[in-house]
Amino acid sequence: MKEDCIFCKIANGIIPTDFVYENDYVAAFKDINPKASTHVLVIPKEHYDSLNEVNDDKILLELLKGVKETAKALNLDNYRTVINTGKGAGQEVFHIHVHILSGKVLPKF
Ligand code: AMP
Ligand code: ZN
Repeated sequence: MKEDCIFCKIANGIIPTDFVYENDYVAAFKDINPKASTHVLVIPKEHYDSLNEVNDDKILLELLKGVKETAKALNLDNYRTVINTGKGAGQEVFHIHVHILSGKVLPKF
């Protein structure tokens, strides 16, 4: 746990948060500033600043599995996943997270 990391505080229950999905490795919760009618973040419970710092393949696997399980828990068939890596790509919170966006027509890119 990184002391000054907001997502570590969420993952460890220091900031009480309703999880839409949780298992031993990941937690998923609603984005505070949603960019789509459904906007959820999936995080590993262990701290890694960004995708570039994840040095454990098990975590990569669990993160993607967590995305699938979260989508299933939310009954989502159609959704977009985004991982911003680095400030230049728009990353603002430096605890890796996968965005799940769904629920309205998203611009195609
Ligand atoms: P990124 O730009 O990829 O780093 O995304 C960070 C996301 O975290 C943004 O969409 C924020 O709205 C969201 N966010 C920041 N703080 C919180 C929080 N306390 N709870 C839920 N979502 C948050
Ligand atoms: Zn963290």
